[in-house]
Amino acid sequence: MKFTAPRGTKDILPQDIPVWRHIEDTARQTFCIYGFNEIRTPIFESTELFERGIGDDTDIIQKEMYTFLDKGNRSITLRPEGTAPVVRAFLQNKLYSSGQTSKLFYSGPMFRYERPQAGRYRQFHQIGVENLGADHPSADAEVIAMGFHLFEKLKIKNLKVYINSIGDAICRPVVEERIKQFLALNLKNLSPDLQKKFEHKPLRILDSKDEKVQLYLSGMPNMIDSLSQKSKDHFNSVLDYLTTLKIPFEVRPTLVRGLEYYSETVFEIVADDLDGAKNTLCGGGRYDKLVEEFGGPKTPAVGFAFGVERAALLIQKQKKFKTKLSPNFYVAPLGFSQQSRCFKLINDLRKHGIHCEFDYSKTDLKGHLKVANQLSASHAIIYGENEANKKAVLIKDMTTGAQTDMSLRKLPGYLMKLCLL
Ligand code: AMP
Repeated sequence: MKFTAPRGTKDILPQDIPVWRHIEDTARQTFCIYGFNEIRTPIFESTELFERGIGDDTDIIQKEMYTFLDKGNRSITLRPEGTAPVVRAFLQNKLYSSGQTSKLFYSGPMFRYERPQAGRYRQFHQIGVENLGADHPSADAEVIAMGFHLFEKLKIKNLKVYINSIGDAICRPVVEERIKQFLALNLKNLSPDLQKKFEHKPLRILDSKDEKVQLYLSGMPNMIDSLSQKSKDHFNSVLDYLTTLKIPFEVRPTLVRGLEYYSETVFEIVADDLDGAKNTLCGGGRYDKLVEEFGGPKTPAVGFAFGVERAALLIQKQKKFKTKLSPNFYVAPLGFSQQSRCFKLINDLRKHGIHCEFDYSKTDLKGHLKVANQLSASHAIIYGENEANKKAVLIKDMTTGAQTDMSLRKLPGYLMKLCLL
């Protein structure tokens, strides 16, 4: 074989599509119930959009972007995440002009040059939501609850919300100082890469994927104590709403997200059945300054994104999804002269929305019935000279073998009823 899919990418094969469609459809329905509308943005954007939005010191910007110069010498990047593009579209199209909050959702491929492993790819798919314009803690709780309800609807088990607050720009220096005091005790044991972040971006150290670092961090003092009263009140109010909605959560003082734009609430929804560090199904939080950073009006915002590959993996692992095959029909012409009539019949049935198949490489009934079996057709529709003279067909139930005569006139209605059974 000459060609294989690029490292870190994978084909989504026909047998995987039903679970993907199920996730996408359930997400759309759920988001619509909560008043979110779909937005679609380009797969590539100017590199600067992500550099400004995500933050220079993040792994995404430093190591993971698919960046290239286009033929016009512009620096272009395949989107590594969906929030910066949605905020760009929100501003460019003045979606803020109604004065209402904009509740948006998106879905599509994202690209990060990461080390590929189970549940982590270089092209992966995210579905995400953004509530732009809402500063009330109920908006944080609303998106968390919506994500949680979506995964419950998908019958994903053992879900938990990890939540933390990293405070706003005013109390962030205090939070960072606290973290530095703790990390200073063990600085020499951190990798040179992490040591570089110590001075200016200590929060990024908390985001390290290194298990030893994470173990050490588990002893860190609670960041919540260093928050301003305003940030504490916001966070406690989010927790109260979650308690009211009976969403199981755990405050995780070391939780920060890998994107620089977050402020105040950050959260993850995790599922125990995803392994180790990759058990995060969904990540999100508040980003009150990003719209202003991009030159827009003051617009507090909150959102999340989840990985479709990880959701599909869980659903398949937990065996929560059974594909219900709608009965399909195989149309068998008896004799070469009937092929053209059958072709017309198949076309008419398909126009009625009936799924039927044929295979004209077969010429005798035995061959046709074999193909009908291979395709798992529920019924074969046999159409020979005799049937044509009577303006009828013979329907053979492929499970029981029972045969029924049916007039051509009544055939579409009869098959449609079978599809409903
Ligand atoms: P993030 O955009 O990093 O906050 O990630 C949000 C969610 O997207 C994660 O919880 C994962 O489910 C998914 N995700 C992020 N990166 C990858 C990746 N490289 N491969 C597969 N899924 C990913």
